[in-house]
Amino acid sequence: MPRTRPPVITLDGPAGSGKTSTAQAVARRLGFRHLDSGALYRALTFALLKEGVPEQEWATLEAQQLTDLNVEVEVEGDVVNIYHDGVLLTSDLRSTEVTASVSAVAGLPAVRDWLLDVQRSVGAHGNLVADGRDMGTVVFPDADVKFFLVASLEERARRRLLQDHGREPAEAEVQEEARRIEQRDNTDSSRSHSPLRRPEHALEVDTTGLPFDDQVSLIMRQVQDLTPL
Ligand code: C5P
Repeated sequence: MPRTRPPVITLDGPAGSGKTSTAQAVARRLGFRHLDSGALYRALTFALLKEGVPEQEWATLEAQQLTDLNVEVEVEGDVVNIYHDGVLLTSDLRSTEVTASVSAVAGLPAVRDWLLDVQRSVGAHGNLVADGRDMGTVVFPDADVKFFLVASLEERARRRLLQDHGREPAEAEVQEEARRIEQRDNTDSSRSHSPLRRPEHALEVDTTGLPFDDQVSLIMRQVQDLTPL
């Protein structure tokens, strides 16, 4: 049956499975917009930490208080920029402090509801590649093609360290990072609101041992017929 609206592709999966870099590359090749939903959860976490909102108060935050944090998303063509107090957020989003707290923030129903509208408005016109934990299950359940990326825990830890430090990590560092990732995956999978799940009908891609370009090519082969409407 012919499509009647511009396509949406989703990539979900656990931490470090290569979703964001793959989604970005696929979006670029297709000329689509890329939504890195993890960056939105990170931005709210960054703002809460920066504003010094005590962690004990996070669970009672309401929508207006989240709005008052001044996290704003601006879309310029295919690029999605995130600001806090008018300042563009980039590497701050990946700090150790933000990474350590982001899953606690992402588990809050008020946060997820607040971000749902933001994410859907970024994707409202389709021609979108969205990556995260609940893209294919909750945010864009009608997506045209859904992927679920997985990789061994050790490889995910190694990749994350390589990405963050730009050098091959020592074995002890890999083990420590693997513990942190496993903890984040457990929190993300066990929360009651929009947990990390493999979406029904999603194509599972195991990226363990798969070079980055091969990951991108594999996904491209599945979506190459999805020309923008
Ligand atoms: O993908 P990334 O590692 O940047 O995501 C950071 C965190 O944001 C995840 O560990 C998860 O807690 C949360 N997240 C989420 N739902 C999404 C995307 C990210 O809960 N769709």
